[in-house]
Amino acid sequence: MIIVLKPNINEEEKVKIIDKISSLGFKTNISEGVERTVIGVIGEEDKLRVQPLEVFPGVEKVIPVLAPYKLVSREFKPQDSIVKIKDVEIGAKKIAIMAGPCAIESLESLREIASEISKTGVRILRGGAFKPRTSPYSFQGLGEEGLKIMQQVAKEFDLLTITEVIDSKDVDLVASYVDILQIGARNMQNFNLLKKVGKSKKPVVLKRGMMSTIKEFLMSAEYILSEGNFNVILCERGIRTFETMTRNTLDINAVPVIKQLSHLPIIVDPSHGTGKWGWVIPVSRAAIAAGSDGLLVEMHTHPEDALSDGVQSLNQKNFVKLIEQVKAIANAVNREI
Ligand code: PEP
Ligand code: MN
Repeated sequence: MIIVLKPNINEEEKVKIIDKISSLGFKTNISEGVERTVIGVIGEEDKLRVQPLEVFPGVEKVIPVLAPYKLVSREFKPQDSIVKIKDVEIGAKKIAIMAGPCAIESLESLREIASEISKTGVRILRGGAFKPRTSPYSFQGLGEEGLKIMQQVAKEFDLLTITEVIDSKDVDLVASYVDILQIGARNMQNFNLLKKVGKSKKPVVLKRGMMSTIKEFLMSAEYILSEGNFNVILCERGIRTFETMTRNTLDINAVPVIKQLSHLPIIVDPSHGTGKWGWVIPVSRAAIAAGSDGLLVEMHTHPEDALSDGVQSLNQKNFVKLIEQVKAIANAVNREI
């Protein structure tokens, strides 16, 4: 439920309304706009409907939020949210590109990759240290050692970093090394992990589960926001369908649909979305054309030697091509890169 306050409300009346809502056991989220203050009330909507909040003198109107995801919905916040991380903004006019290897493999290799991506103007380095692999025999990542490598390389090239956290007990550790926490597709409905990253103040990239609907995806984001962390970026990375030619079926529809339903930024992962490097560039063009706020791309200077996902990783030459082509599409849709 959203309570819109009158423009001339005084502080005392405002406090009275907030106290009343709190006394009923609801949480509030106050957003002070230029003209009006809006109070978002979080909790079971039915219980609140019987309360005549319109009687308070400072209340202009009470609007129920019909969507099951409340804080995430456009009804709750009509303006696009922008996630700011140091000097980088995600969800604003500029397209955010996050690139790097699937997994952090060594200091030398990450340094070489970071050097290439930063030459193209990309500011966010991706790389997994804790890898959720389908097989227990596959490379599981370097763990904390990988995070140390990432932190060092990011400092050398003045990059921001994103890495996946797979266990709620590791959230604080991972958050102490990187700028953005990634919740992978396999953990989209790991509610304890969502609550834990929700308590952290770090920005979170939440990837869509491979068998999840858009509604379930938004409900998972709601878990993070409901714990107080509004710095959430959604990521479409493909879902399972009957199609076997591609690793996943990238649901391009999700981009405009989510833009309509939610104020949160949405980016696309064309690497896991397709599973083959040759399809990454065309699908990236499509993502930006559809309104994506960014891309999460796997890049490796030696994809043939990569310890994971080499087949879907762009080499340096193709990565440069991706940036050029995405730039042309970004300009066509009034965005920048
Ligand atoms: C990844 O980004 O490396 C990853 C494991 O992605 P997903 O969770 O989308 O499979
Ligand atoms: Mn990968």
